Amino acid sequence: MNTNKPPVPDAPSKNFVEEIIDADLASGRFTHVQTRFPPEPNGYLHLGHAKSICLNYGLAMKYGGKFNLRFDDTNPTTEDTEYVDAIREDVRWLGADWEGREFYASDYFDQLYTWAEKLIQEGKAFVCDLTNEQMAEYRGDIKGGKPSPFRDRTPEENLDLFRRMKAGEFPDGSRTLRAKIDVNHPNFHLRDPVMYRILHAHHHRTGDKWCIYPMYDYAHGESDSIEGITHSICTLEFEIHRPLYDWYVQAIGIYQPRQIEFARLNLTYTVLSKRRLIQLVNEKHVSGWDDPRMPTLCGVRRRGYTPESLRKFCERIGVSKFNGIIDVTWLEDALREDLNKKAPRAMAVLHPLKVVIENYPDGQTEELDAVNNPEDPTAGTRKIPFSNVLYIERDDFLENPPKDFFRLGPGREVRLRYAYFFQCTGFTKDPISGEITEIRGTIDPDTRGGNDPPVKRKVKGTIHWVSAAHAVDAEVRLYDHLFNTPDPDDVPEGQTYLSNLNPLSLTIVEQAKLEPALASTQGGDTFQFERLGYFCRDRDSTPERPVFNRTVTLRDTWAKMQKKKA
Ligand code: ATP
Ligand code: MG
Repeated sequence: MNTNKPPVPDAPSKNFVEEIIDADLASGRFTHVQTRFPPEPNGYLHLGHAKSICLNYGLAMKYGGKFNLRFDDTNPTTEDTEYVDAIREDVRWLGADWEGREFYASDYFDQLYTWAEKLIQEGKAFVCDLTNEQMAEYRGDIKGGKPSPFRDRTPEENLDLFRRMKAGEFPDGSRTLRAKIDVNHPNFHLRDPVMYRILHAHHHRTGDKWCIYPMYDYAHGESDSIEGITHSICTLEFEIHRPLYDWYVQAIGIYQPRQIEFARLNLTYTVLSKRRLIQLVNEKHVSGWDDPRMPTLCGVRRRGYTPESLRKFCERIGVSKFNGIIDVTWLEDALREDLNKKAPRAMAVLHPLKVVIENYPDGQTEELDAVNNPEDPTAGTRKIPFSNVLYIERDDFLENPPKDFFRLGPGREVRLRYAYFFQCTGFTKDPISGEITEIRGTIDPDTRGGNDPPVKRKVKGTIHWVSAAHAVDAEVRLYDHLFNTPDPDDVPEGQTYLSNLNPLSLTIVEQAKLEPALASTQGGDTFQFERLGYFCRDRDSTPERPVFNRTVTLRDTWAKMQKKKA
């Protein structure tokens, strides 16, 4: 697969799905648009589902139509109400409003059963006693298959057996109901596909009422039809199922929606498959479904992603008929753009180095004005306390700085953001470890507010700081990609995608120092920590000790510089 970069961001042109819809409206096949998002409640939603939601909901909005939320719950052994609740919350969070049109395939079990009896009576379905293995063998190969020995049962016999399947007379797996289509059809999905299987399992909604359950292909198109869906949009792997989708609604003789397939979303450094996400959770490679490294919607929400950024991302990548992998930087850029406009600025030091200001009175404090968001004048200003002992970022000081290092070194001067010019006059080093333990220096009182002094001098760097006496101690969690390689499936033979897990995907900073205003924040609040990135307060915070997740770094200026040089 190639990495797919859309040619033009925010491409305004019509996508292929809209072209199909326009043609359908023009031809009169449909007079309106109604879409649905059909999750199976067997896991949490991920970024791929967000693409599907944005597409389905977006089309309904664009055409003044309706959007349904339908739980495709035909598989009782893997489904649960826990997932139903989580999915509802995620869809709502993304901003897709189903306006009460919440449906369940299981609501249609009675109707689906009635239609199955009708197909049996018309000779279009039969009860088969072959096992799964035998069925596969009978299905044959490209040259053709052979008919099931039970294919010619009479409608009366089939009806009797099917009713007894429903009544619970037979064990799991002993019989199936199959559509009678064509044992030699070039499309294997039409070689007498299974419609119902026996499964004595408790269903999260229908309880123990049923011990036969419809297969996806039999249930899906009929559910669409019942709800009056016009365009049933699904991912490409269902293209080959489309003739079957059409066959069922035509055989039953009900309203026929149009199925349209698009390429699923794949992202670099990420896996987007429920099966794998379940494995990551169950095997404890992550802390849970909402681990901020997970591509689940609850994970990215906890990480600090906004619904607006996800919608923007989905709009930009568009829809296509060709599978590819989208570069994850597209997602991160959409997020930065959104947070840059919204996130208040704050000062925080992740790796504190103590600074003593020798010409500032011990015990004195003053309040300085700081801009909350230069991108948003209405965000106003706030006060930040300044005193004679500060913390700065450890890597903002070098004992022997190179010429183009515009931060601190012995004798060098920088601007302390919103405060004063500061010149370093000395430092202390731990004699054993060689670590710098403290730096000393003086401020220029004429530069209050970080303003240039009357006699201008060159100060290239501005660094952030926090007053030691006022700082709030915090834990900060820094995240990197969950996988080491752009395509996690790129592994040597005999290994799985798990061998590409990035062991450094989480770094915990235990002793970060935050400006005091950050103490009174709430879970979910997002800030730009100046020069460091965007951070979101985590629900693991306690009143004494906030925990912040790094949502995303600031644009990688170093990488940009390298590009410019090249
Ligand atoms: P998975 O492959 O992760 O198990 P799924 O298709 O089984 O996903 P469903 O709950 O059946 O999960 O999906 C609901 C809808 O979301 C379907 O219409 C499906 O086509 C769509 N969808 C799932 N994954 C993606 C993806 N990566 N990109 C776009 N749409 C997706
Ligand atoms: Mg599915």
